[in-house]
Amino acid sequence: MDPHPSLHELTKLSHTYYERQWMYATAGNLSAREGDVFWITASGKHKGELNEEDFVCVSVADGSLVSARDGLKPSAETSIHQVVYSQLSDVGAALHVHTLDSNLLEFGVGKEEGFRDFPLPPIEIIKAFGIWEEKPNLTFPVFYNHTHVPSIASEIKRYIETKGKPQVPFLLIEGHGPTVWGKSVAEANKHLEAVHFLLQVMARRI
Ligand SMILES: [Zn+2]
Repeated sequence: MDPHPSLHELTKLSHTYYERQWMYATAGNLSAREGDVFWITASGKHKGELNEEDFVCVSVADGSLVSARDGLKPSAETSIHQVVYSQLSDVGAALHVHTLDSNLLEFGVGKEEGFRDFPLPPIEIIKAFGIWEEKPNLTFPVFYNHTHVPSIASEIKRYIETKGKPQVPFLLIEGHGPTVWGKSVAEANKHLEAVHFLLQVMARRI
């Protein structure tokens, strides 16, 4: 099948995020949805040298591989993107990075509880999420970093089923990094920049 038109944008973002030290080595993964499938960075690709052929196509319904160039495998964290697309129907792009500040923050979410909501500082950059309320009382979900990535995906599904869509377009996996989404790659990127700023503010207040 023809590659998603947003792969050029995602490839450029991959290089930018690498330069910003958000995707060191092969860390992180970027994806864009097209109907019943999504395209995601292949496993083991260096994000500073990624090109438009380094993506594989995966089913939104069950995460199975739809198409890939010879030898390419989906990222190990594909299940996190799959659950975001399957649970949040208006999401067109999802971006997952490993930033320093997100790893400096400690929330103490237990393995058994799986996730918990935490307050978000009500600062100006919240407007990037389309929230214009003055000093909004917002929370965001933090998940336990299971070694078995599909367990994190199951907890995200459980969160949305029990609590609904998060109030802001992102979630944080503790000691790992944020996953951010938007209707388009451009919107997801805007959200990710705002999330990065928010997490920087939180990390510096510790
Ligand atoms: Zn990751």
